[in-house]
Amino acid sequence: MLKELVIASHNSGKIAEFEQILKPFGVKVYSALELGLPDVEETGVTFAENAIIKAEALSRISGKACLADDSGLCVNVLGGRPGVFSARYAPDRDFERAMTMLIEEIRAVNTEDWSAFFACVLALKEPDKNVKLYEGRVDGKIIVDRKGSNGFGFDPIFVPNGFSKTFAEMTAEEKRKISHRGRAVNVFLQEEFNVKNI
Ligand code: IMP
Repeated sequence: MLKELVIASHNSGKIAEFEQILKPFGVKVYSALELGLPDVEETGVTFAENAIIKAEALSRISGKACLADDSGLCVNVLGGRPGVFSARYAPDRDFERAMTMLIEEIRAVNTEDWSAFFACVLALKEPDKNVKLYEGRVDGKIIVDRKGSNGFGFDPIFVPNGFSKTFAEMTAEEKRKISHRGRAVNVFLQEEFNVKNI
């Protein structure tokens, strides 16, 4: 059973979220930042590759178990782009700009198909064990007018299938139940702690 876990991220929101999720299972969570671990470059071409690169590097350096994630938005008519480049799609990680650029790019294809999905892959690397992967995905569509102010990234223009509001109009709890990240975390909890959906 996992007793301690390094989260391969320098994002304090992400660390806090994992800390909250893992607390009930008695797991001590460390952030890469507090252990002075480097920010590992995402050089892979798939979400899984990037998550594995980060988890393996930080587990090797810290000597502890490490959980890393990679996620992004894949637009079907754009051949799955921006995908692993989602965070780097717009200059300076400017999300407003990224949404405008994405809408313009889809419009330029002159299509009726605005379908897209978010994907998330978690990689767990424990010392002396093979890396394990947990995946989550949520399908939906991109809309032209931004709606809502919660969340981050492409949330104001993504409407998940079966809903009439965007991720940015949902509470964190509502979003977590159906999101790519929430689903990947549920698979992780189920497999590592034998827990049904939280
Ligand atoms: P990373 O997984 O932290 O490297 O970043 C993934 C990027 O994908 C973010 O910067 C966003 O652009 C996008 N993204 C991933 N998950 C979400 C989400 O839940 N909502 C909105 N955008 C997301």
